Order: sequence, then structure tokens, then C-alpha cells
Amino acid sequence: MDATVDTEQVAARETTRRVRDVFDAAAWRYDAMNDVMSLGSHRLFKRMAVEMARLRPGKRVLDLAGGTGDIALLAARQVRRSALAPPPVAEGDGRVVLADINRAMLDTGRKRVARRAANVDWAQADATELPFADGAFHAVLVGFGLRNFADKEAGLREMLRVLGADGVAVVLEFSTVRHPLLACAFDAVKATWPTLGRVVAGNADPYRYLVTSIRNHPDQDTLSQMMRDAGFARVEYHNLFGGAAAIHRGFK
Ligand code: SAM
Repeated sequence: MDATVDTEQVAARETTRRVRDVFDAAAWRYDAMNDVMSLGSHRLFKRMAVEMARLRPGKRVLDLAGGTGDIALLAARQVRRSALAPPPVAEGDGRVVLADINRAMLDTGRKRVARRAANVDWAQADATELPFADGAFHAVLVGFGLRNFADKEAGLREMLRVLGADGVAVVLEFSTVRHPLLACAFDAVKATWPTLGRVVAGNADPYRYLVTSIRNHPDQDTLSQMMRDAGFARVEYHNLFGGAAAIHRGFK
């Protein structure tokens, strides 16, 4: 085997293992930490991301790297024929598959989501090798997940592959703040996260990883180009809080 390919594969495996350890450690306090670190704003961002997917009743949706299920829950409501209809699922309702690589995150999410939505299925899967057929979904959403993939390009290609014709992909992720004052303010906020992690979740390490992974994530224009290179059309993005996060959207 080509030595470069071999080295890349080892590095990718190591990244995947580290990310798994991070979310194993974070799972039990993940939802509380999200609220504390973002002062609740992650909920608004997720609503906006789901709105950008323009879901309709009957659609099939993949919540990729779905973790504890915030996005799956929002999407599950939108693909039902009646938002008021109680479980069980009615004829014509759409379904959401929540896929995540991490068993602890899935287990935490399953308990939450099963109580509130009957049209969500679960899969433990690596985003870079999805176990779904070509064209299986109308929409793929990934919230704060892409940053963690060992091979982001492969993740984007898989998202495109599992979308049907004219399907939509929405990527919600931390991004780059351009305005110097806002950038300083966001840096100051991020600097508090490891301490918050120690106090609220008893472990600072996952939140140190979080800050590093945000720093290493491609900026808005770079990610737009990565999506185009993967084959997405009509790629656009919207900044949130001046670029602290951004929502990218592209179509198959
Ligand atoms: N989407 C959820 C949300 O917005 O609350 C969870 C986001 S959490 C920050 C990142 C998630 O990505 C974790 O649940 C982690 O297990 C998952 N993840 C990381 N690498 C992955 C991969 N290669 N394939 C699938 N999921 C992955």
C-alpha cells in the first residue's frame, strides 16, 4: 500500500478514536453544557437550520451526527402530517433517521426522543461510510457534527450520495468571526468553556477539544467550496452571531 495513504488512514482512525472518547466523556452532561455554554442560543440555531431545510410532511430526513436528538426532534415534527397528532405514527408521516458514531450519545438521545416522537429511527454509523442506500433521503442535516469528522470531504460526499434528486443538505457549524471586536468577544467566551466543563460536567478535556476543533474548522468560504467540490449545487451560507456559527445549505 502507498505509504501516504497508510499514514492518512492511521491519522483518520486516531482522530475518530479521540472524538469517540470526547463524546463518551461528554454524553451524560451534553445537553446541559450546550445550554450553559451558548446561553441557550444553540436551540435557536438548530431551529433556523431545520427551517432552512424546508421540510414537508412525508419527507425522509437524516440527522447526521445527531447526538442527543435536538435536530431529529424538530425535524420529526415537521415531517408529520399533523404536528398535533399524538404517537403512533399516522399514514403519510415522514421519518427521521438519527445517525451517530457514538453509542453513549445515541443512548442518551434515544431516551429523550422516544418519549416525544415516534417517527425517529436510530443508527450507529460513521458519517464517512454511511450504511444507507443512494438517494435514501430528501434532506440531510448535520448540526455541530462536521467539524468532528476525521475526513470532512468524505462526509460531504456521503451526504450527497444518500440524497435523492434535488435533496437538500444543511450544515450548522461553528465558523469564523471576521469583525475583530466580535472575534475577541467570542474568543473570551470560548476561553470559559473548559472551566465550565470542569464545574458542570466534572471534566474540562472535552471542552478543550471543542475549542481546538472550532479553531481548526474551515471558514465559511472554504466550507462552501468544499461543498461545491463534493458535488453540491446552489451552495449558500448564513452567518449567526457575526460568524460564530454559520448555516450552509446546498442541493443535489
Ligand atoms: N447534532 C447534535 C447537536 O447539534 O446537538 C450533536 C452534536 S455533537 C457536538 C457532535 C456529534 O458528532 C457527537 O454526537 C459525535 O458522536 C458525532 N460524531 C463525531 N464524529 C462522527 C462521525 N464520524 N460519524 C458520525 N457521528 C460523528
